[in-house]
Amino acid sequence: MSSDLPLRCRCGHVRGVAHEVAPSAGFRFVCYCTDCQAFAQYLERPDVLDAAGGTDIFQMPAGRVRLTAGTDAVRCGTFSGKVLRWYTDCCRTPVANTAAAARFPVVALIHPFMDHEAGGHWRDEAMGPPLCRIYQRSATGLLPPDAPPPPSLATFARRTSKILGWWLCGLGRPNPFFNDRTGAPIIAPQISCRHGPTAQARG
Ligand SMILES: [Zn+2]
Ligand SMILES: [Zn+2]
Repeated sequence: MSSDLPLRCRCGHVRGVAHEVAPSAGFRFVCYCTDCQAFAQYLERPDVLDAAGGTDIFQMPAGRVRLTAGTDAVRCGTFSGKVLRWYTDCCRTPVANTAAAARFPVVALIHPFMDHEAGGHWRDEAMGPPLCRIYQRSATGLLPPDAPPPPSLATFARRTSKILGWWLCGLGRPNPFFNDRTGAPIIAPQISCRHGPTAQARG
């Protein structure tokens, strides 16, 4: 069962929809990397992080994500130059991470942008539980007992084949964060020097 998930910043100015969301139609994980933590700090949104500094992320095909209102308030920053971090200027809600190039067919939605009224375990129902955790070495606290496991080779393989499939099926376009004709980001990314460059691409 898949469903359309409303997307919404905290104040409601920026809205969108994620189509055909289902556990099998994406890849949910928790990222403890320092860049994700720095992003939440930059936005002054400590509520984005779990008790150990993790960010709940759902990667899905870019072509199934639409922004329907308030795109004037969408902003883009980057620490590494490899990952673009999208947020809203109106209420500093983290929206999504993308690759720096439009051709990478994935949008990684960050949980505060997912609107919901159901409460409780709605994310587990819509997207399935997180399949793994990554960069746990930079966790800022003890992981909760129910933390997802570290990625296995099978998890990596599953993610790779999913992304390849999305690309082959043309589900990566249009990417709502890039101009479909020129491939340029809809707003120029601002480089943040505060955190410094990182050695690896991070989710
Ligand atoms: Zn807002
Ligand atoms: Zn991260």
